Amino acid sequence: MLNLIKHPLLTHKLAILRRKETQTKEFRETLKEIAALMAYEITRDLPTKKVTIETPIETCLTEELAAEITLVPVLRAGLGMVEGISELIPTARIGHIGMYRDHNTLKPVAYYSKFPPNMSDSTVMVLDPMLATGGSSSDAIKILKDNGAGIIKLVCIVGSPEGVEHVSKDHPDIQIYLVGLDEKLNQNGYIVPGLGDAGDRLFGT
Ligand code: URA
Repeated sequence: MLNLIKHPLLTHKLAILRRKETQTKEFRETLKEIAALMAYEITRDLPTKKVTIETPIETCLTEELAAEITLVPVLRAGLGMVEGISELIPTARIGHIGMYRDHNTLKPVAYYSKFPPNMSDSTVMVLDPMLATGGSSSDAIKILKDNGAGIIKLVCIVGSPEGVEHVSKDHPDIQIYLVGLDEKLNQNGYIVPGLGDAGDRLFGT
């Protein structure tokens, strides 16, 4: 299911990412800030557990997070979202999936994966700023399911209708989070209007 996160700060910061004049340093900082702001929404349904603590005044029954969180950036561009979220959830474990898009077939090719153990007990957040054809996100989710991941959330920033449909069809159980749902893909598989190649803009390549 698609969750389109609407907030003036997110809209403003996404415009900075989209702007072609935005240089690597500002692009990287803004991507990190957007990921951190999204964390508020994507963690909204995390379970909590009751705990008894001592305040300086008296004993207090309160709650703390019960869920273990695993962040799985899809290399390369997903790396740009890790820091913003992990600063808010410092206990999060971090796995990695390496995927690239074959420029001829436009199909994703997985070349690397490394995950923390026992992902069945974890809420796993797949991080990839661009949900374009949906092929690499869908494959990444399948790889995570095959490795025993329990609850999986797909956290992107900009998406295309084609990408949302692709992932929703392959994985109807997955929540998808976006800040911008754009118009379409072009013939090269880029999101229109999009923001260009997120990996290139993030790493200055
Ligand atoms: N990946 C990107 O970085 N940008 C797009 O527009 C599509 C895929």
